[in-house]
Amino acid sequence: MSQPSYYYQELQEMLQQPGCPICHVGRKVARSQLDALLYDSVTDKESREKLASSMGFCRAHSRELLSFPGERLGATIIEWALLREAQRRLKASAPAAGASWRQRLRGQGAAASSLAADDPCPVCTHQAEIESRSLRELLEHLLGDLERPLAAAGGLCWPHLELAMRSASDPRVHSALVSLHDQVWQGWIDQMGEFIRKRDYRYSQETITDQESAAVERSIEALTGLYPRAS
Ligand SMILES: [Zn+2]
Ligand SMILES: [Zn+2]
Repeated sequence: MSQPSYYYQELQEMLQQPGCPICHVGRKVARSQLDALLYDSVTDKESREKLASSMGFCRAHSRELLSFPGERLGATIIEWALLREAQRRLKASAPAAGASWRQRLRGQGAAASSLAADDPCPVCTHQAEIESRSLRELLEHLLGDLERPLAAAGGLCWPHLELAMRSASDPRVHSALVSLHDQVWQGWIDQMGEFIRKRDYRYSQETITDQESAAVERSIEALTGLYPRAS
């Protein structure tokens, strides 16, 4: 038997914890890329300059820069360079010409604004690539293998499930995904139903379980994902 791939091993590790495993993989690669960029920003002028083409990171990944303990210097060096780049672009900008206000807002009839970033957030781009590769691996090993741990973790989040359904051409994989998520969600639907019922004064003597109380969080996570990702 061939060696399990890196992606397969990562998935197995991520499936040990509750929540969408693809979100967990995405979060891990995004954090390690941000960590490396924070380190580079202190030592490497070229990597700082490269960030200017995307005007840094998206909103979520920019804020995450500040979540690395002891790395405030790296974050400050990056943002210092980016705000200077913003100044440069602002001063080089020209008044909007031609077209109506409505067309200009839609970006029609006028040259692209010199303030717009040339590239998307590099962390989102990398994260999306790895998530898509991991999802392919998950689908390849779903039947009779990762199916059970995936159900125990609570399945995929809605955005990753939607991606999975678009790429699952094997009808058996498609039907396994449907039945797995149907069952997991039914459990949360029942728990939330119980929570709602027990909040009625007529049943208020019945104890609400931790699971019934937490089902709303699991549902929010399942419907929106655990972590920001490129759309
Ligand atoms: Zn997800
Ligand atoms: Zn991003």
